[in-house]
Amino acid sequence: MEKTIRGNKYIYFFGGGNADGHESMKNLLGGKGANLAEMAGHPKLKLPVPPGFTITTEVCTYYYDHKKTYPNELRSQVGEALEKTEKLMGKKFGDEKDPLLLSVRSGARRSMPGMMETVLNIGLSEKTIKGLIAQSNDERFAYDAYRRLIMMYADVVMEKGNGADVRHGKGIRKMLDEKLENIKEKQGYISDTQLTVDELKTLVRTYKKTVKKVLGKEFPDDPWEQLWGGIGAVFSSWNGKRAVEYRRIEKIPDEWGTAVNVQAMVFGNMGNDSCTGVAFTRNPGTGENKFYGEYLVNAQGEDVVAGIRTPAPVNEYSKNAQSENFTTLEKMMPKLYKELDGYQNKLELHYKDMQDIEFTIEKGKLYMLQCRVGKRNGIAAVRMATEMYAEKLIDAKTAIMRVAPNQLVELLLPMLDPKAEQTNTVIAKGLPAGPGGAKGRVVFSSDDAVEWEQRGEKVILVREETSPEDVDGMHKSQAILTTKGGMTSHAALVARGWGKCCIVGCGDIEIHHENKTFKAKNGEVIKEGDWITLNGTRGLVYEGSLPLVDIDIEKNKSYNELMKLVDKIKVMGVRANAETPGDAAQGVKFGAEGIGLFRTEHMFYGEGSEQPLFLLRKMIVSKTEAERREALNELYIYVKKDIKDTLLVMNGHPVTIRLLDPPLHEFVPHDKEKLHQLSEELGIRVSVLKRRVLALHENNPMLGHRGVRLGVSYPEITEMQVRAIFEATAEIIKSGKKAFPEIMVPVTCTVNELSHQKKIVDRVYEEVCEAEGVKNIPYLYGTMIEIPRAALKAGHMAEVADFFSFGTNDLTQMSFGFSRDDIGGFLPNYLDQKILYDDPFQTIDQEGVGELIRIGTERGRKTKPNLKVGICGEHGGDAESVKFCHRIGMNYVSCSPFRVPIARLAAAQAAVQYPEIKIENYATQGNNGHGIKNPVQKRRLESV
Ligand code: ADP
Ligand code: MG
Ligand code: MG
Repeated sequence: MEKTIRGNKYIYFFGGGNADGHESMKNLLGGKGANLAEMAGHPKLKLPVPPGFTITTEVCTYYYDHKKTYPNELRSQVGEALEKTEKLMGKKFGDEKDPLLLSVRSGARRSMPGMMETVLNIGLSEKTIKGLIAQSNDERFAYDAYRRLIMMYADVVMEKGNGADVRHGKGIRKMLDEKLENIKEKQGYISDTQLTVDELKTLVRTYKKTVKKVLGKEFPDDPWEQLWGGIGAVFSSWNGKRAVEYRRIEKIPDEWGTAVNVQAMVFGNMGNDSCTGVAFTRNPGTGENKFYGEYLVNAQGEDVVAGIRTPAPVNEYSKNAQSENFTTLEKMMPKLYKELDGYQNKLELHYKDMQDIEFTIEKGKLYMLQCRVGKRNGIAAVRMATEMYAEKLIDAKTAIMRVAPNQLVELLLPMLDPKAEQTNTVIAKGLPAGPGGAKGRVVFSSDDAVEWEQRGEKVILVREETSPEDVDGMHKSQAILTTKGGMTSHAALVARGWGKCCIVGCGDIEIHHENKTFKAKNGEVIKEGDWITLNGTRGLVYEGSLPLVDIDIEKNKSYNELMKLVDKIKVMGVRANAETPGDAAQGVKFGAEGIGLFRTEHMFYGEGSEQPLFLLRKMIVSKTEAERREALNELYIYVKKDIKDTLLVMNGHPVTIRLLDPPLHEFVPHDKEKLHQLSEELGIRVSVLKRRVLALHENNPMLGHRGVRLGVSYPEITEMQVRAIFEATAEIIKSGKKAFPEIMVPVTCTVNELSHQKKIVDRVYEEVCEAEGVKNIPYLYGTMIEIPRAALKAGHMAEVADFFSFGTNDLTQMSFGFSRDDIGGFLPNYLDQKILYDDPFQTIDQEGVGELIRIGTERGRKTKPNLKVGICGEHGGDAESVKFCHRIGMNYVSCSPFRVPIARLAAAQAAVQYPEIKIENYATQGNNGHGIKNPVQKRRLESV
């Protein structure tokens, strides 16, 4: 099945101020080839790029479709392009008097680091080297180039190109490298450049012998064989083990193929008027708009990146502690530096983004070898985006797309000083559950954490795993380190919610509670009270106290500017999940426009929880309604205060208050002392109390007596909460302030549950209005959709509900039938074996759970067109999930306060990517009945 490809044009030439291709031809020419063409041929650039040509990705496809052969025309086309190259360079490939040398470079559409290395100096042989020596008048240079060719060719073409699976540091390159090192060591040389001609000649002989011995084949001392060998190696590297693996991880399709770039060599290793370097049009570490780069005199190829010698800074600005005393390129070659500076300016203006460029100076002449959009960290990304916007280089939408939502995390958390990390050894590695850096003294229990913290110590809680009982100690710790558990384990979820540094699943360490120590894999033993430091962004544990660098987001001008653009562009609301008024305030600080999930249960954990928890327990073990009402009346005071404080913090922005959700038995005391105390207070015998507690036991509490089911069995529980909500709101309104609660019923599966609870709500509403002397209290009544049946029956649910909030944690759990607390046992295998591609608890499973959400939203809105729809699971802070919510047409997403900026940015990006989706932003419109635009809310007010 012969395919005709673009009129059989397999080769795109560039050089001499012209190019067949251009930047937008990345699919055909690969990233490197397209940019070489752009730099060489674009009328506004025409930069000095050594001439050459790109063999298209279609040839790669052909190669694999035709048993690793090339199309017939390829040879003649390569010949033609090579001729053009020879003309421009005034040299001939394979010529014994003045040989043209070539580089062969791979280049996929997207850069694939580690896929295939470049082969330089192709065309050198025992015969042609004589010409090179004669022309350059530099024997040393010629042999330096020759030994490099042999090493690269043996490695890339003869070994890897042949399909050998060479593990890092084990292959022929390493062996040849050792030969070089041996000479250096023997002679006491510090640098490669000190090798003499004779030593290089000997090295070349040794290399050839070693290649023959190890690989069983002679190094091909023939230019044409080298050239085709190089081209073939690039194509076969596309299916090399590393490339295939990389594609799988990055989800790059196998069909893309790679291009091959063949290019005339220029030499940075021709003496002290030659050099090679790498530079960025802006500082990729800070984002500052300053030309930043490094270079090496008398060097070739990747010497700069490989770190063989310490590179020198291109200018004063690029100096660092290591290179302080080096001569800058600007000083050493001022004219060439100016030329380079001009090009980098041009390139950035042209591409309208920070460029990463490679250049080489050969005997006082500057060449540009590569340019591409440069990688940058989060801090730099934000700064560059906003500054380029301010410079009018890019528009607001482009600026917003330039920052990956997760990069914002780096701006929000303190981080480990990278310099300190370089000089310290990692003692253990785990999963990076909570980014940022933290240090503290090791404690092994939550109680100890609380106690030590009270003494003013900074601690890190180290445990096998954590549970809700540890929350207080976790809160008081600088960071959390667990040996078990995955990215969605309790510790991970809690830490992420707080923006706390956390490492989970750190199997490298073993805890010995008997003597309060832990042992790291490397044998290191850490005692209670010893300092450790965590890099939660990468999951690394260090011994001792390493310095942290603090980040204050409010002072970050670029961040604030970016978020201004974000808010202008996004159409979906972003709210925060909050447990306390403090959380709510944190959410507001990060730009939350409401609370999408307020859980009142929090008052039963941690600091100040003693009394409410006691009252709750009293309520739980009550036998009669009267007993229960008595306990509830006392509890009411706490619930109301919590709700009122939160409503006040949110100042009229909506607060979705979820009615009591967890199974009651979770709160029941099991230890003797607590049981005795309770029995005394309640005036019932311990044996009786024990029996009541036993009666509450459930086999599957998560599927048991919880959520709305509690409210159905004990309407007085709902009544108490609803009364607290209405009274708090009425009081706030009467004091002239604003409040807007949304009552949310959890774990529903039928509209009848909603109607049942609604009767209570309506009754209490009337009572409170009467008692408080107000005409109306603004509120919405809605439900969480977290049971698949509820999503399917959404059309009916919407008859009673004003809003839906998809509780995607439980919805995922119940759709997959995966217990969220137990996925650690099997999910890693699922991900490893690609049975699932993502952890569905981290990013919404769009095909399955997402389908339920879509159906639920559609059916709900069919019944009630202005039904407000949001999401309040962990997914609300996951960028991909946020974009999905936008596509579904949700009104808002809600997530933990620290994820709010991420969700805002993701929402803005979704608005740029899917402008056709129209969403009404309800999230900001709860405002106490004044100037209400929210149609749902209006209708409710009219109906009461
Ligand atoms: P990578 O994709 O890993 O950056 P490149 O194809 O850019 O690989 O090649 C690596 C290095 O080889 C470049 O940084 C450059 O220094 C050197 N190089 C590539 N082509 C040439 C050439 N034509 N002349 C001189 N050096 C070259
Ligand atoms: Mg490169
Ligand atoms: Mg739930």
